Amino acid sequence: MQRGAFVLRQILILSLSLAPLFCRAQAPVPGPTPSTAAAAVTAIRAGRLLDVESGRVLSNQVILVSGGKIQAVGSGLAIPDAAKIIDLSTMTVLPGLIDCHTHLADLAGAEPLALLRMSAVETAYAAIPNARVTLMAGFTTVRDVGVYRAFNDVAMRDAIAKGLIVGPRMYVAGAYITISEGAGAMTGLAPDIQLPLDLRYGEANSPWEVRQRIRELAHRGADHIKILTTGAVLTHGSNPKSVEFTPEEIQAAVDEAHNFGLRVEAHAHAAEGIKNAIRAGVASVEHATLIDDEGIALAKQHGTYLDMDIYDEQCIQSAPDTPADFLQHDADLAAAQRRNFTKAVRAGVKMAFGTDAGVCPHGINARQFAFMVTYGMTPLQAIQAATVNAADLLGHSDLVGSIKAGKSADVIAVKGDPLADIKILENVAFVMKEGSVYKQE
Ligand SMILES: [Zn+2]
Repeated sequence: MQRGAFVLRQILILSLSLAPLFCRAQAPVPGPTPSTAAAAVTAIRAGRLLDVESGRVLSNQVILVSGGKIQAVGSGLAIPDAAKIIDLSTMTVLPGLIDCHTHLADLAGAEPLALLRMSAVETAYAAIPNARVTLMAGFTTVRDVGVYRAFNDVAMRDAIAKGLIVGPRMYVAGAYITISEGAGAMTGLAPDIQLPLDLRYGEANSPWEVRQRIRELAHRGADHIKILTTGAVLTHGSNPKSVEFTPEEIQAAVDEAHNFGLRVEAHAHAAEGIKNAIRAGVASVEHATLIDDEGIALAKQHGTYLDMDIYDEQCIQSAPDTPADFLQHDADLAAAQRRNFTKAVRAGVKMAFGTDAGVCPHGINARQFAFMVTYGMTPLQAIQAATVNAADLLGHSDLVGSIKAGKSADVIAVKGDPLADIKILENVAFVMKEGSVYKQE
């Protein structure tokens, strides 16, 4: 053997023997890995499958899943020999639920000033369980609509997507676009306290400041824009009946967001702030508490979604740590919001499911379904609000919202018929997200 060839051979042997080491070094960080690998073929036997678009319940369906996607759905599908079988033949199967109004990346609890006792990193770690319990409750996607610590939500979304932590697919706002001392600001501090940038990141006080904030958010990871166009219940010194931002400022927000392909949702309680937002072209109004007849007509005309959190009033009223001024703000709003929810449903306004999770503890989002039915929806309409409608509001109907070939394999199952008893959705027995099983009872 020539010396050159010998050296080459030794290098080859060495590199082959080291290869597993390099492979191991490059392997993904072992996270809380779900039990089913997304790559293999999985066949779900669905005893009853709710087609959320038609409202029909289909029996004895098979859902074939691979690569995290739904490959096929039908009653007479051939199941490949090597497929892993998941037997949900005694259950009702639905698409993964979507909550369009959560705050996963913030501290749960009523007092925003509690954030000032923690660093940004402490807050981020404290928020990790919020994501897990939300997914385990059957919510495979959320639209997270703002954080006090700017970009904590972007970091959480990315950590979930990388498998570092367990949670739903998140679409995030990055920060609150708010007037100074407004509904999305950290208020209640002495006037000589200066907040760090991440706790006042979205403050803007002119159309051009609004545009500047949105340009920054669009480039730093926001999936949509949250603007607050009236005062708030859970903000010190705020009046939910006050109007915040001018129509010109809201229009600037919608126009600038559209420049980046982003949609805008507007927090609004007062009737005038709701109408200002709808006229400017927001995708949804959050809370919509005091929406009047003109506002309902405008929402229908513009195709604006309403995202009304009609169940969390109990949490505000019963939590032991709810500050007294928040209780005052809330006093006459809850009953009005439920009345107006009924009016909006009867008028045929587009409705999405949003709970403001974080006001109530995370993971009990599904309790809102029963309220939606009590106040005027059929069980199917309530489920559609959290599936097809929510997907449409997010602009991701191609990915989520129903069990169809080509969509993400986001599938849940319950023991019983949610069309007969909507509360069954409060106990989800099976959760699959992107083809991976996270819960199977
Ligand atoms: Zn909220």
